Amino acid sequence: MNDEQISATVDRVLSAYGGRSAASSATATVAAGGAPVNAVDGRVDRIIADLLNSAGRGAGEPTGTACTKGGGDGIFDDMNAAVAAAVEAQRSYLLCSLADRRRFIDGIRAAVLQEENLKRLAADAVEETGIGRYDHKLIKNRLAAEKTPGIEDLVTDAESGDNGLMLVEYSPYGVIGAITPTTNPTETIICNAIGMLAAGNSVVFSPHPRATQVSLFLVRLINRALAELGAPANLVVTVSRPSIENTNAMMAHPKIQMLVATGGPGIVKAVLSTGKKAIGAGAGNPPVVVDETADIEKAARDIVAGASFDNNVLCFAEKEIIAVASIADRLLAGMRRSGAHQVTDPEIIRRLERRVLTEKGGPVTECVGKSAAWLLAEVGITVGPEIQLIVMEVGKDHPFVQEELMMPILPLVRVPDVDTAIDVAVEVEHGRRHTAVMHSTNVAKLTRMAKLIQTTIFVKNGPSYAGDGNGGPGYPTFTIAGPTGEGLTSPRSFARRRRCVLVDALNVR
Ligand code: NAD
Repeated sequence: MNDEQISATVDRVLSAYGGRSAASSATATVAAGGAPVNAVDGRVDRIIADLLNSAGRGAGEPTGTACTKGGGDGIFDDMNAAVAAAVEAQRSYLLCSLADRRRFIDGIRAAVLQEENLKRLAADAVEETGIGRYDHKLIKNRLAAEKTPGIEDLVTDAESGDNGLMLVEYSPYGVIGAITPTTNPTETIICNAIGMLAAGNSVVFSPHPRATQVSLFLVRLINRALAELGAPANLVVTVSRPSIENTNAMMAHPKIQMLVATGGPGIVKAVLSTGKKAIGAGAGNPPVVVDETADIEKAARDIVAGASFDNNVLCFAEKEIIAVASIADRLLAGMRRSGAHQVTDPEIIRRLERRVLTEKGGPVTECVGKSAAWLLAEVGITVGPEIQLIVMEVGKDHPFVQEELMMPILPLVRVPDVDTAIDVAVEVEHGRRHTAVMHSTNVAKLTRMAKLIQTTIFVKNGPSYAGDGNGGPGYPTFTIAGPTGEGLTSPRSFARRRRCVLVDALNVR
């Protein structure tokens, strides 16, 4: 509402109470943005206060509603208090316009993209979690802030005919509980906050306890950016001490309408067991198949680039190579030229197994996301900074093949032909339907693998990250929902489908 509209409304109200002189002084105060004057009586003061509250709203909003402005950092000591604040925020957010949503999301993007913030997020994440690479985290955070889709993703379907007009629109769920991983702590919060707010929700984040400080910094940053733009307070909240207990309390809270888990199998199973609408973005174990028709030198370069990106912690990164025997040696030679260190000594492989695998066979937490040089140093081998990846030949039943390691150790399994390679790839992906990669120029075999493996992402002739909008077509996300089927999540994944019908009218054909 602009000053002229406010003035006209105040005039109309005051004409019933006491005349234009009071209206003039009230209007002057409104225009100056100050406190309302005592125009005629208490009722008028209240009316003017409401007008003042609504003066910051964007054009095109519903009249008689208020997109209440906020403040605060969105960080609460208690999960119940965090959820209550997010509930109130979302109610107010319902009355904001789409233009407001766009502004708020642009504000989040801009805050993250400020150079000093980008650098701090990347540096703090590496320091606090001990996972990944500063330079690659810079790229990932930038990608999430720049390219996560916004409100344009919420496309309305319409159908009209003799019986009238039907619209099917994407509406918010309400308050979403979002659980985020250690491996992409800030990227996931950026991407989820943009997507969930674009769909009209508020969000309670439950970060991984080992990423507490960097997550709190980001939530604070987002809240300050939103407050500057006049957004309702507490659209994005979290707790000061993230823990499993707090996550459980959030999942069980009756006011949380939707849960989104980005993490390993345990947390995906937990959200799917709540009885609430849940999105599970779980573990992968992406195989990369290379056949004899591929451009082997390029395949070698792409595999090293994809598998070493952020020290292999991406859920969609190449985790094992299945190579046709006739090109396996050439592929390994190409990888060595592109920054891979090949381990051939069985004793070194055994030492690596002992260092990076737990007794149960999974990855040792301390080794997740460490560099190739760090891992090699642990087994007594010194290499230069040009080494990005460790590669070795093993059988398909080796734990390096079967387990999702999330470190730059990439085993190669040699098989006689491409059909066997595809079968092995399907087997070691374990039916997670996450990501697979294939290097081949044989369209029939590319199609065969895509059909049989059924992964959410299937990258042909490129590094795995090209499947997530990084150097390939399409938008990025850091919440890839294989188990629950949303795929690469975007705002519409966080929205409900609602039908609005106008009977017997507005068909203008
Ligand atoms: P994780 O499962 O250990 O933790 C993820 C989140 O879940 C954390 O916030 C953690 O505190 C919480 N959590 C875990 N178990 C819980 C439980 N029993 N009760 C309550 N909360 C629990 O995973 P991580 O090590 O942080 O991340 C790596 C894993 O996440 C890998 O398996 C990776 O593939 C997967 N991941 C998947 C995607 C995707 O988009 N599909 C993206 C990133 C990571």
